[in-house]
Amino acid sequence: MKKIGPLILLIGLAGFAVFLFDFVSADLLEEPKYFLVGFVSMPLIFIGAVMSMPSLQQKYLKQNEEILREQMKTMGEGFYEDREKFCSNCGDCIEKNAKYCSVCGTPL
Ligand SMILES: [Zn+2]
Repeated sequence: MKKIGPLILLIGLAGFAVFLFDFVSADLLEEPKYFLVGFVSMPLIFIGAVMSMPSLQQKYLKQNEEILREQMKTMGEGFYEDREKFCSNCGDCIEKNAKYCSVCGTPL
Protein backbone atom coordinates (compact mmCIF):
# COMPACT_ATOMS: atom_id res chain seq x y z
CA MET A 1 0.00 0.00 0.00
CA LYS A 2 2.87 2.35 0.85
CA LYS A 3 4.57 1.77 -2.49
CA ILE A 4 1.48 2.13 -4.66
CA GLY A 5 1.03 5.84 -3.87
CA PRO A 6 4.40 7.09 -5.15
CA LEU A 7 4.12 4.73 -8.12
CA ILE A 8 0.77 6.18 -9.16
CA LEU A 9 2.16 9.67 -8.60
CA LEU A 10 5.17 8.85 -10.79
CA ILE A 11 3.00 7.42 -13.58
CA GLY A 12 0.77 10.47 -13.38
CA LEU A 13 3.71 12.87 -13.52
CA ALA A 14 5.28 10.97 -16.42
CA GLY A 15 1.99 11.01 -18.29
CA PHE A 16 1.56 14.69 -17.63
CA ALA A 17 5.11 15.40 -18.79
CA VAL A 18 4.46 13.53 -22.05
CA PHE A 19 1.23 15.45 -22.48
CA LEU A 20 2.92 18.82 -21.82
CA PHE A 21 5.83 18.05 -24.14
CA ASP A 22 3.43 17.02 -26.89
CA PHE A 23 1.25 20.06 -26.27
CA VAL A 24 4.17 22.47 -26.48
CA SER A 25 5.86 20.85 -29.46
CA ALA A 26 2.68 20.17 -31.43
CA ASP A 27 1.70 22.29 -34.38
CA LEU A 28 -1.06 24.74 -33.53
CA LEU A 29 -3.27 23.31 -36.26
CA GLU A 30 -2.53 19.79 -35.14
CA GLU A 31 -4.44 18.28 -32.27
CA PRO A 32 -2.24 17.04 -29.41
CA LYS A 33 -1.89 13.27 -29.66
CA TYR A 34 -1.53 12.73 -25.97
CA PHE A 35 -4.48 14.75 -24.83
CA LEU A 36 -6.06 11.68 -23.25
CA VAL A 37 -2.80 10.87 -21.46
CA GLY A 38 -2.80 14.34 -19.91
CA PHE A 39 -6.47 13.99 -19.04
CA VAL A 40 -5.85 10.69 -17.24
CA SER A 41 -2.59 11.72 -15.60
CA MET A 42 -4.07 14.60 -13.63
CA PRO A 43 -6.31 12.49 -11.36
CA LEU A 44 -3.45 9.97 -11.11
CA ILE A 45 -1.17 12.70 -9.75
CA PHE A 46 -3.84 13.66 -7.25
CA ILE A 47 -4.53 10.08 -6.12
CA GLY A 48 -0.81 9.31 -5.96
CA ALA A 49 -0.11 12.43 -3.91
CA VAL A 50 -2.89 11.62 -1.45
CA MET A 51 -1.80 7.98 -1.15
CA SER A 52 1.88 8.77 -0.69
CA MET A 53 1.29 11.41 1.95
CA PRO A 54 -0.07 9.80 5.12
CA SER A 55 -0.57 13.17 6.82
CA LEU A 56 -2.65 14.45 3.93
CA GLN A 57 -4.57 11.18 3.86
CA GLN A 58 -5.27 11.39 7.57
CA LYS A 59 -6.44 14.97 7.29
CA TYR A 60 -8.74 14.02 4.43
CA LEU A 61 -10.14 11.04 6.32
CA LYS A 62 -10.57 13.04 9.50
CA GLN A 63 -12.48 15.72 7.63
CA ASN A 64 -14.77 13.07 6.17
CA GLU A 65 -15.18 11.47 9.56
CA GLU A 66 -16.25 14.76 11.10
CA ILE A 67 -18.78 15.36 8.33
CA LEU A 68 -20.09 11.82 8.71
CA ARG A 69 -20.37 12.17 12.48
CA GLU A 70 -22.24 15.45 12.10
CA GLN A 71 -24.65 13.82 9.67
CA MET A 72 -25.20 10.86 11.98
CA LYS A 73 -25.85 13.22 14.87
CA THR A 74 -28.40 15.21 12.87
CA MET A 75 -30.08 12.01 11.74
CA GLY A 76 -30.11 10.66 15.28
CA GLU A 77 -31.63 13.84 16.66
CA GLY A 78 -34.36 13.74 14.04
CA PHE A 79 -35.06 10.15 14.94
CA TYR A 80 -35.31 10.76 18.65
CA GLU A 81 -37.40 13.89 18.21
CA ASP A 82 -40.00 11.85 16.37
CA ARG A 83 -39.96 8.78 18.52
CA GLU A 84 -38.90 9.44 22.05
CA LYS A 85 -41.42 10.71 24.49
CA PHE A 86 -41.93 9.12 27.82
CA CYS A 87 -45.05 8.68 29.92
CA SER A 88 -44.89 10.66 33.17
CA ASN A 89 -46.70 7.87 35.00
CA CYS A 90 -45.14 4.59 33.86
CA GLY A 91 -42.09 5.90 32.00
CA ASP A 92 -42.85 3.90 28.88
CA CYS A 93 -41.74 5.14 25.49
CA ILE A 94 -44.77 6.43 23.56
CA GLU A 95 -45.60 8.07 20.26
CA LYS A 96 -45.14 11.80 19.91
CA ASN A 97 -48.71 12.66 18.94
CA ALA A 98 -50.50 10.22 21.26
CA LYS A 99 -53.04 11.74 23.62
CA TYR A 100 -53.01 8.86 26.05
CA CYS A 101 -50.29 6.48 27.13
CA SER A 102 -50.73 3.19 25.29
CA VAL A 103 -49.52 1.24 28.33
CA CYS A 104 -51.25 2.78 31.38
CA GLY A 105 -53.75 5.17 29.77
CA THR A 106 -52.53 8.34 31.46
CA PRO A 107 -53.62 11.50 29.59
CA LEU A 108 -50.65 13.43 28.25
ZN1 LIG B 1 -47.91 5.22 30.86
